Amino acid sequence: MTKLRAIRGMNDILPEETPYWQSLERTVRALLHSYGYGEIRLPIVEHTELFKRSIGEVTDIVEKEMYTFDDRNGESMTLRPEGTASCVRAAIQNGLLAVPQRLWYAGPMFRYERPQKGRQRQFHQVGVEVFGIATPDIDAELILLSARLWRQLGIADDVTLELNSIGSNEARKAYRAALVEYLSARREQLDEDSQRRLESNPLRILDSKNPDTQALLNDAPALADYLDDEAKADFARLQALLDAAGQPYRVNPRLVRGLDYYNKTVFEWVTDRLGAQGTVCAGGRYDGLVEQLGGKATPGIGFAMGMERLVLLLSETGQALPVEQAADLYLVSMGEAAETEAMARAEALRDVFPEHRIVLHTGGGSFKSQMKKADRSGARLALIWGEDEVNAGTCAVKDLREDGGQETVAAAELPQYLRAALA
Ligand code: ATP
Ligand code: MG
Repeated sequence: MTKLRAIRGMNDILPEETPYWQSLERTVRALLHSYGYGEIRLPIVEHTELFKRSIGEVTDIVEKEMYTFDDRNGESMTLRPEGTASCVRAAIQNGLLAVPQRLWYAGPMFRYERPQKGRQRQFHQVGVEVFGIATPDIDAELILLSARLWRQLGIADDVTLELNSIGSNEARKAYRAALVEYLSARREQLDEDSQRRLESNPLRILDSKNPDTQALLNDAPALADYLDDEAKADFARLQALLDAAGQPYRVNPRLVRGLDYYNKTVFEWVTDRLGAQGTVCAGGRYDGLVEQLGGKATPGIGFAMGMERLVLLLSETGQALPVEQAADLYLVSMGEAAETEAMARAEALRDVFPEHRIVLHTGGGSFKSQMKKADRSGARLALIWGEDEVNAGTCAVKDLREDGGQETVAAAELPQYLRAALA
């Protein structure tokens, strides 16, 4: 029989790794709370139509990365490849858009990509979305909020901010025509991928990784020359706000995003410590999306962070020490009466020490093997019950870390004794 394995690109996150995740999630949650953002929890499966209509039919995600299937009723469903579309759908459906909204969500996303370091088929994002604010002060707030997160995580020196404005839909349409004209005349100099994109999604050619293509783009029309006045003014204001806040950035005129719904501000936080998968956080403005999905015209802006990449960066830079994994107490017992006593004492101690890690040995076994497990648990103290202890109403307390000494403590005195010992 072939061994059952997880689906390629969908990873187990093991107990030795989860402390990094927990520490990251705690920091993110507290930060978003402190900026006045509210959490929204969204379904993992949505109607396929939602993603086609928002992300765009000719994007990589919709063309070749979605997990799409028919449910038992023959309706087309898709495992969400990102969160913005669902968040907009939920905001419209639940009438959240009458007033400005600052929202965030977290959870798994699914894309059929080639798995590699920092790129999975099931990956996790924390996403932040703001609805109802058209002015670039909110663009600045989102950027400063993310910058604060990097400082709190201790990775501020490892990431840099790239910024661009891609203007209004009309401006982009005019630019797209100019770019296509320029590149079509040099079609044979483009690689296959870019040739394909020339028809489907020519702006994506701008972020091609191919050096020849990049060289070819040096003399191509520049998006900045096609920006509408409003986008230009907003972009200037955003830069002024970032300057005033002392937030460094690099304007990258070739930064475009892979999803159709963006306009005006787009940004990415990138690191050079994770190889090709260097973008840890990306986002931008999407003023047309709410209306496009059937809501009342409402401006929107948001970003999403890739949690796997942040965890990689945290472990690579030695930041965010994992929360303590070791047990504090390990309770050992020999014989049925002692087992009964140990279980009752364990529950009583958990009442008194809710913050401590108290592990009760279960499953029997010799004294020697139980003590081995106690040692491996990393516990500071082993509490030991045998027949003698039960009869005498005591417990043997063995120090597993320091001198290995052992003391007999009256069972009733245990909380007091441990309070001093665990301090
Ligand atoms: P990339 O260019 O790396 O494919 P993207 O532009 O497709 O990224 P977005 O859709 O903007 O990514 O998602 C926001 C963030 O989510 C990315 O910057 C990245 O950190 C993370 N991310 C996206 N796809 C994956 C994936 N397959 N595995 C792990 N993280 C991912
Ligand atoms: Mg991608």
